[in-house]
Amino acid sequence: MTLSDDAARTYELDRRHVFHSWSAQAHLTPTVLTAAEGCYVWDGEGNRLLDFSSMMVNTNIGHQHPKVVAAIQAQAATMCTVAPHFANDARSEAARLISERTPGELDTIFFTNGGADAVEHAVRMARLHTGRYKVLTRYRSYHGGTETAVNLTGDPRRWPNDHGNAGVVHFFGPFLYRSEFHAHDEAQETERALSHLARTIEMEGPATIAAIVLESVPGTAGIMVPTPEYLRGVRELCDRYGIVFIADEVMSGFGRTGKWFAIQHFDVVPDLLTFAKGVNSGYVPLGGVAISPAIAASFAQRPYPGGLTYSGHPLAAAAAVATITAMHEEGIVDNAFDIGARVLGPGLRDLAARHPSIGEVRGIGVFWAIELVRDRVTREPLAPYGGTSPAMTELVAACRAGGVLPFVNFNRLHVVPPCVISEAEAKEGLAILDQALNVADAHTVDAR
Ligand code: PMP
Repeated sequence: MTLSDDAARTYELDRRHVFHSWSAQAHLTPTVLTAAEGCYVWDGEGNRLLDFSSMMVNTNIGHQHPKVVAAIQAQAATMCTVAPHFANDARSEAARLISERTPGELDTIFFTNGGADAVEHAVRMARLHTGRYKVLTRYRSYHGGTETAVNLTGDPRRWPNDHGNAGVVHFFGPFLYRSEFHAHDEAQETERALSHLARTIEMEGPATIAAIVLESVPGTAGIMVPTPEYLRGVRELCDRYGIVFIADEVMSGFGRTGKWFAIQHFDVVPDLLTFAKGVNSGYVPLGGVAISPAIAASFAQRPYPGGLTYSGHPLAAAAAVATITAMHEEGIVDNAFDIGARVLGPGLRDLAARHPSIGEVRGIGVFWAIELVRDRVTREPLAPYGGTSPAMTELVAACRAGGVLPFVNFNRLHVVPPCVISEAEAKEGLAILDQALNVADAHTVDAR
């Protein structure tokens, strides 16, 4: 099939004028997308693709949910923009609905334009609140592409004259499949990861550490679901040393794991919680920080030095109100948990049993990673951490040819469909992956 005339023009203009994220611009061949509905998108050749990526793991409510589209249209007809120092009904209502769902008493909401600036502001709040500067963060993490956020990010996508962010210290978190601690089971991995974190705090000097930033379930870096004991242990260390616990729920929040926030699986309450993506499924850019009473009180008498023109933008806030309301009324968070437990988990484990390229599958809700390896015994990844490989490129092409849009990072294929996905759609996607994985199998030692 060939591109329609309109799609061909879109492609041509894109290649002439658009600068894309994280890419060598000369090596790009972006797929033109022209329409979307529910769990499907359509490309410029008219092909329908099952969106197993939720775009960038953000369309939790699916594409073009009619109630969210209508809410944006209604808000646009009333008031398209409001400066941050005014009060506005859409922003107030969004803040109420979010604070009702956050764990503990994280009832004050600072709105940003997306995830990275939410992380930037959470770190700034923690530094001001504690009067300390250092921030501890995991390797194998993603926190955004802006200055501090990208330096918190624990992966090797760095550049030669990257000066780093003063005070950022990385540590290893639990990841049993590729254990840094030579652990043999989850209990041992948890215990050793916690003692490594405690040692890091002691060696850095507890009185210098403002915050520990963690994704409750690391997303882009590989969807490693921690044990409850790990996050409880982090909470205890923060309490012991007066360190602010920042849970980054930009990707794991708003239903992705089958609860409103991933940290609610573990009964832990952070001091600051960052969100974006699923808050309004990305229909209009929005992110934010949910703030504890103690940290909010820090800024009761002195000004908070920071802000954004579009903080709590009314179109974005109206989309959040409609998204959260629809997710609540339509049982979408429970659906995500149920599909994960009944369909995706068992289905992916079945694929792992039959495909030698799968080293491990792990996840929860509609948040799953397939860890691809060249060799199941040595666990040599199918692409290096921080890079790509012809095998991964071929695998993506095979998924697309079969009709699935996957989310791929390094040696992993993530299965992260909208939270609204039905059992039939999930099974359709798994069947397509089953075929596509033969391409990855051909690159394993077993194929020789
Ligand atoms: N934190 C986490 C955990 C994320 O997954 C992301 C985005 N993938 C970000 C922060 C950054 O969000 P944004 O791209 O909206 O700036």
